[in-house]
Amino acid sequence: MKQYDVIVIGGGPAGLFAAGFAARHKGQVLLLEKNRQCGAKLLITGKGRCNVTHDEHDPRKFAEHFARNGRALLTALYAFGVSETVAFFADHNVPLKVERGGRVFPQSGLAEDVQKALVNFVRDEGVEVRTGCEVKGLLVDELRVREVETSAGNFSANNIILATGGLSYPETGCSGDGYAWAKDCGHHLVKPEPALMPVRLKERWTPEVSRFNLKNVRITLSVDGKTADERFGEAFFTRSGIGGPIVLDLSSRVRDALKQGKVKLLLDFKPAVATDLFDKRLQRELAEHSNLDFGNVLGKLLPRDMIPIFIKLAGIDPGKKCHSVTRVERQRLLKLFKEMELEVTGCEGFRRAIITAGGVSLKDIDMRSMRSKKISNLYFAGEMIDLDGPTGGFNLQVCWSTGYLAGLKAAEK
Ligand SMILES: Cc1cc2nc3c(=O)[nH]c(=O)nc-3n(C[C@H](O)[C@H](O)[C@H](O)COP(=O)(O)OP(=O)(O)OC[C@H]3O[C@@H](n4cnc5c(N)ncnc54)[C@H](O)[C@@H]3O)c2cc1C
Repeated sequence: MKQYDVIVIGGGPAGLFAAGFAARHKGQVLLLEKNRQCGAKLLITGKGRCNVTHDEHDPRKFAEHFARNGRALLTALYAFGVSETVAFFADHNVPLKVERGGRVFPQSGLAEDVQKALVNFVRDEGVEVRTGCEVKGLLVDELRVREVETSAGNFSANNIILATGGLSYPETGCSGDGYAWAKDCGHHLVKPEPALMPVRLKERWTPEVSRFNLKNVRITLSVDGKTADERFGEAFFTRSGIGGPIVLDLSSRVRDALKQGKVKLLLDFKPAVATDLFDKRLQRELAEHSNLDFGNVLGKLLPRDMIPIFIKLAGIDPGKKCHSVTRVERQRLLKLFKEMELEVTGCEGFRRAIITAGGVSLKDIDMRSMRSKKISNLYFAGEMIDLDGPTGGFNLQVCWSTGYLAGLKAAEK
């Protein structure tokens, strides 16, 4: 059996980075990926544009976005942080640009360019890549991984890096295999849960308006009538509810809130204008068009597709002349603009969750090297570790930083 220096299991962003940097530092590296191509999930990131990282170059400030576990990321971020990521992709012909909210994308706007750059990177560093090769298990003996069992036979290496991702979007190859192996050889698993997921609503009209982005809106999370949290930014209705960055970032709180009471999202379409001022605007609009049908005057205030929904929910006859709209009707309309009530019935599961929270416990990983504290020649990288960040490029940066560090340290050892 051929002996490798390092075997990397999983050809996602973390595994590709780990394999490339391991090979740059030392000899024979084998990358095993069960899909026919590496980086399948990368292709669908950022709606096909790939939000590669977040424009926060200070590792300490970056780590603050990871709440309880952020500090553990610091060594990896100091070793390979946002500046290094930007430089890496520029060196590999994928210059990046910063967009609204600090989100960093390829200038080309194509996730495919990121995936291709990584595939070329591992090839140029001399990594042996076996796609269509499913790892079945690890043969562990005396606290070392002796062999990696695969659909194409067994392989052996001095060090093994696990980068099999989480459980979200299973069609991309994520089935949580690495969790089971890690658990079997003594690692504690923090229960994997879907995170950054769209929310399901009772409202049945959302499919009719699921085509456009709601930009610059505010969503307030209300539990039993009390405000629990809020976010400002972008969202969109989906076939079964609502999604988009600010909803995804609220979703774990929504899931917890559902255990406590009745959960609503209050959507403010015009957060920059105070309610009383917006009421004046509505009055002006109705007065200026007093002889027009009410159904024809909302065009300046709302995206076209949204207008029939507003008319229906406000309960105002669209054929009614604007001068006949009553104060009570106007108040109903005002509430829809400033505090539309959306009743939450649940959260989407792994099938539609952007990431998996939980995973291999940080207590069982030496985060200065990404090496297991249980198995002496085993390393971890990427989403399978118990680290989850908000939307905005944070989760891929975890892959670049932990993948780099795991690759470097596994090759050095
Ligand atoms: C729709 C969507 C959009 C996203 N957009 C963004 C974004 O814009 N920015 C951002 O920061 N994050 C985004 N994410 C999250 C990001 O994609 C993940 O955090 C990231 O892909 C995790 O990388 P990974 O390498 O750890 O795991 P993965 O990308 O899941 O890769 C793991 C690989 O391991 C392989 N594998 C698993 N089991 C085996 C086995 N038994 N044998 C061999 N191979 C195996 C899998 O086939 C897979 O290729 C998005 C996620 C989704 C689902």
